[in-house]
Amino acid sequence: VIEIRDLHKAYGDLEVLKGVDVTAPQGHVISLIGSSGSGKSTLLRCANLLEDSQQGEVIFCGEPVHWRGQGAARVPGDAAQVRRIRTNLSMVFQQFNLWAHMTILENVMEAPVTVLKQDRAEVEVRARAILDKVGIGDKCDAYPAQLSGGQQQRAAIARGLAMEPKALLFDEPTSALDPELEQEVIRVIKDLAAEGRTMLIVTHDMALARDVSDHVIFLHQGRIEEEGPPEALFKTPKSERLRGFLASTN
Ligand code: ATP
Ligand code: MG
Repeated sequence: VIEIRDLHKAYGDLEVLKGVDVTAPQGHVISLIGSSGSGKSTLLRCANLLEDSQQGEVIFCGEPVHWRGQGAARVPGDAAQVRRIRTNLSMVFQQFNLWAHMTILENVMEAPVTVLKQDRAEVEVRARAILDKVGIGDKCDAYPAQLSGGQQQRAAIARGLAMEPKALLFDEPTSALDPELEQEVIRVIKDLAAEGRTMLIVTHDMALARDVSDHVIFLHQGRIEEEGPPEALFKTPKSERLRGFLASTN
């Protein structure tokens, strides 16, 4: 679904991604791990074109992003394509970013109704079913401030699912949560993995990465230092840096 080839990204003189390749095939879960500042969030943001990149390819469902200009001046050249890609990649952030003045149900319904122009009544049926699925069907009429962090994050995931995206991108979905609330969000992510959703997950939670991923990528200073299936990566890390990183997370 998502393919990134030799991606380079700099902020001014600061090279944040130095040639990164990521492939997330249909139904696979890819986790991105690495220390703070290694470029994980940047990579996710480049994947859904929230950030421009200077070199390399982003390919979505076999369709390469069309660029205009070169190097620092490179931007996506086809606005319709950018919209298509963004609406097909739902992003879930560490801070849930729900709309405070809307109920949970309205939050979930907003984008399908306004962006996809889908029928309100049909969207509502789907939104209620999704909220049930993530375990907060009883919170439809509540406002975000009335929910726990774990419930808010599940509402944010529901909002992403309501767009019926081709893939979900998660940036540290559990790190703003207390440990006991983390588990309810992890449960939802595991259910989505079991359903065969395509997901790219940035996480500090090695247990989550180990349990849900088909493939784990360890980023170090903007490069892939090591990658592989979770069993191999966590049990028998090859690189010294990954060993050090894993030791520091225990
Ligand atoms: P963390 O685990 O702390 O979230 P990360 O791996 O997600 O870290 P990024 O947020 O991708 O790291 O940042 C990579 C580097 O890019 C950091 O050095 C950061 O300071 C820099 N950076 C990120 N966003 C910007 C920006 N908008 N302008 C300038 N530099 C930025
Ligand atoms: Mg980050």
